[in-house]
Amino acid sequence: MSANIIDGKAFAAKLCIRVGEHVANLKAKHNITPGLAVIIIGHDPASQVYVRNKAKQTLEVGMNSFKYELDEDVSEADLLKLIDELNVRDDVHGILVQMPVPKHINATNIINALNPAKDVDMFHPLNAGKLMTGQVGPVSCTPLGCLMMLRDVHSSLEGKNAVVIGRSNLVGKPMAQLLLQQNCTVTMAHSRTIDLPPVVRLADIVIAAVGRAKMVKADWIKRGATVIDVGINRIDAPEKGEGKTRLVGDVDFDAVKEIAAYITPVPGGVGPMTIACLLANTVTTTCLINGLTPPKDLTA
Ligand code: NDP
Repeated sequence: MSANIIDGKAFAAKLCIRVGEHVANLKAKHNITPGLAVIIIGHDPASQVYVRNKAKQTLEVGMNSFKYELDEDVSEADLLKLIDELNVRDDVHGILVQMPVPKHINATNIINALNPAKDVDMFHPLNAGKLMTGQVGPVSCTPLGCLMMLRDVHSSLEGKNAVVIGRSNLVGKPMAQLLLQQNCTVTMAHSRTIDLPPVVRLADIVIAAVGRAKMVKADWIKRGATVIDVGINRIDAPEKGEGKTRLVGDVDFDAVKEIAAYITPVPGGVGPMTIACLLANTVTTTCLINGLTPPKDLTA
C-alpha cells in the first residue's frame, strides 16, 4: 500500500493562520507588532526568491518585514554594524541572516554577533545550548517544522528508533536533540557512517538532511516507517523541455512511498513548514523579549 503523503503546504497554511491570530492579539492587547529582519548578501537567484517569499508571508500574517539586500562584496565590518543596529531596535524581534554568506565573511563571527533573543533560526551557540539542556528558546525552523509534522501523525514518538542522516548545525544536530526530547532512540548518520542502508533500515523515523538527490532508496526503509525528506536538490528535467530543471529531495520518493507509512514530498513538504516556523519563532521571540508567555500552539 502506498504511504500517506504528509502535506507540508497545508500544514504550514494552518500554522500561518495561528501565527496571524497571535500577531493580531499582540497588536490588540499589547500594542506590539512583531518585526522580522532578513539580511541577504549577494544576488543568488534561488536565495532571492526564498527571501522574497519570506518577506511576503511575513506581511501576510500581519508582521513587519525588514529586508536588507547587501552587495556580494559587503565588508564583514559593515554587516556586523547592521546586525548591531538590528540587535537593539525595538521594532525588530527576529533577525535572520540568509546562509551561506560569501567566503570573505566569517560566518561564525556573524552568528556570534546576533542578539540571542532575536535569533529566530537558532544559529547562536547560546540557543543551541538551550536546546541541548532543554531550556526555553527559539528552535531551529526546519527541525521544528519536521517535529510538528511528526507529532501530527504520531500521537507519541516515545521509544521509536529515529535515524537522522546529516549532522549540520542548522538541521541534523537540532533535529536529533528534538527527537531525544521526545524520548526517541536517536542515531545520527553522516558522510563517514559505514554501511548506511542497514542503519537506516532499523528506523521507525527517518530524517534525510543531506543534499544528495534521491540518495535514500526503498530498500533502506523499514516497512511502515515515517520518512521526512529535508533535502532540496535541483536536477535536470528533460521531460519538461530542454534545459529545464526540477526540485527533488534526498529520498527516492516514488519508490520509498511504496514502503513507508508516511512520507513528505519535495516540494511541498518540509520547505513550506520552514518558513511558517520562522514566523512562529518570531512570535515566540516577540513574546519572550516583552516578558510575555509564548503561545504553546506554535511549538511542537
Ligand atoms: P550540510 O551540507 O550543512 O550538511 C549535510 C550533511 O549531510 C553533513 O552532515 C554531511 O556529513 C552529510 N552527508 C553528506 N554526504 C553524505 C552521505 N553520502 N551519507 C550520509 N551523510 C552525508 O546541509 P544542510 O544540513 O544545511 O542541508 C541538508 C539539505 O537540506 C540540503 O539539501 C538543503 O538544501 C536542505 N535544506 C532544506 C531546508 C528546507 O526548508 N526544506 C532547510 C535547510 C536545508 P558530514 O558532516 O560528515 O560532512
